Order: sequence, then structure tokens, then C-alpha cells
Amino acid sequence: MPAEIVTRFAPSPTGFLHLGHAHSALRGWRRARAAGGRFLLRIEDIDPGRCRPDFAAAILEDLAWLGLDWDGEVRVQSRHLAEYRAALDGLAGRGLLYPCFCTRADIAREVAASAAAPHGPDGAPYPGTCRRLSPAARAARVAAGEPHALRLDMARALAESPPDLSFHEEGRGRLRCDPARFGDAVLARKDAPASYHLCVTHDDSRQGVTLITRGEDLQAATDLHRLIQSLMGWPEPAYAHHPLLTDASGRRLAKRDRAATLRDLRDAGRSPAEVRAMAGLPDG
Ligand code: GLU
Repeated sequence: MPAEIVTRFAPSPTGFLHLGHAHSALRGWRRARAAGGRFLLRIEDIDPGRCRPDFAAAILEDLAWLGLDWDGEVRVQSRHLAEYRAALDGLAGRGLLYPCFCTRADIAREVAASAAAPHGPDGAPYPGTCRRLSPAARAARVAAGEPHALRLDMARALAESPPDLSFHEEGRGRLRCDPARFGDAVLARKDAPASYHLCVTHDDSRQGVTLITRGEDLQAATDLHRLIQSLMGWPEPAYAHHPLLTDASGRRLAKRDRAATLRDLRDAGRSPAEVRAMAGLPDG
């Protein structure tokens, strides 16, 4: 018997859901329901500067209004900080992380000074300044309480993982990964206890997600996610990245397009079925 399909929708509560979110959520929900599988909801509120509890509450309300239901409890990332800490400690214990004290301005200066820095999916890769600190200098700065992020030592991480990392993308087959493009990625931020990349892979594994349905804007991140999964021994899910919903002029929908929030559409008298159709996924 084929394994049960488990999908999820994992919004960050930084604003009200818009039609693009509805599209993504409906895709994951329908895939799970059509296969008799499970659909999970996760609130990715790890960034205290951008996330708000009232937006999280609104997300649940809007999804229920839209006609979606989810299995089990909603996982709220900010309630699981100890789990992310344990994952980070595990990587640090293997020498795969190092503290980075650089400010954005420090990094921009270094990048500008270095010849032809290639661009990575998260911007220019980190130039490695703090990787070159001596163990003593590092320890002294940490002990002094200097704010720091934790970065993955990409060269070491690659040395500990298979050279042919790949993932299964529905409809396209196996795609090769190139996580090196990320450089020394941040896994714990100065201002947040862990990064998106760490938390998303941790939680997909912890929650037993087998098929990740999400927008194609996140496909590049999958290369790094597969590396983290491999380092941590977490299972490999399948992926189905979908095109982003665009407006009539072909522009990608974003949070600034207030007219497209589900709340506004509901207040304007649209029914859930109409909104499902507007989100590009009509019923039937
Ligand atoms: N929390 C992410 C976002 O709202 C999505 C994470 C994911 O689907 O992998 O953009």
C-alpha cells in the first residue's frame, strides 16, 4: 500500500492572507483530501519582529471561512524553540556552525570590496569573515555577550553530505541540488532563535510531511533544505512547487495588494466558493 500523503500549509503571520495564499493552501488541502491523506497547518512565527498573534488568529479564521479544515493541532513554531535549539546544538557539536557577529553593513562592505561576488538565492553569499576568526576570539566574543547569528559552514556541511543531493519534483522527476550557492547560510539569526531554513525542515520532518506543496518562489531554497535534511538524517519529502498566482496584468500578488486579502473579499460580500474560484481553484 502506498504511504499516506501528508501535506501542509505553513504561512508566516506577517499580514492577512491574500489570494495567493488561498491558492497555495487549497492546493495542499486538495492533494491531501483527494488521496485520503492528512493536511496540516503550521504557523511560522519565528521572527518576532515581523509576526503578530492577531495575524495568526486571522489566518485560522480565514482558512476556515474558505472551507479548509486541517488535521490535528496547529503547530505554532514559537512554542517549539527548545526543539530548534537542540537541532542547532547537534550541528554545532559536529563543528558545522560558527557564530557570526557581522552586521548587515559589515557584510555589504566586504561583499562590495570582493571582486565579482556571485549572487546566491538569499543575496550575495556571506564572505566568510567570522569563519576565519580564531577559536579563542570567537569564544571571547560569545562570552562577552556580543550578539551573533549562527551560520552553517557550507564547506564542512558539503563534506558530510552525499555529492549528488537531489529531490523529487512532481511532474519533473529528480532535480539536482546545488546548496553551495547559499554560501554559509544563517541557521539562527541575531534577532530570532532560528531561521526559516532550519525550522521548516525540522518541522516537516517532525510532522511527517511527505509532500511539500508551495510556491515556486521557494524552490531554490529546497537545495539548502535537502542539505539540512541530509545532515540531520531527516526523511526526504517529495515536492510540488506551483506557479504563483498573478493578477490580470501578470503581476505577482503580494501583501501590499490590499484588495486581494481574503478579509476584504469577504467583507465585500464574496462567498467562499467565489473566492476559491478567484484563487484559481474553482470547485468541481
Ligand atoms: N512560511 C513561509 C512563507 O510564508 C512558507 C514556508 C514553506 O512553505 O516552506 O513564505
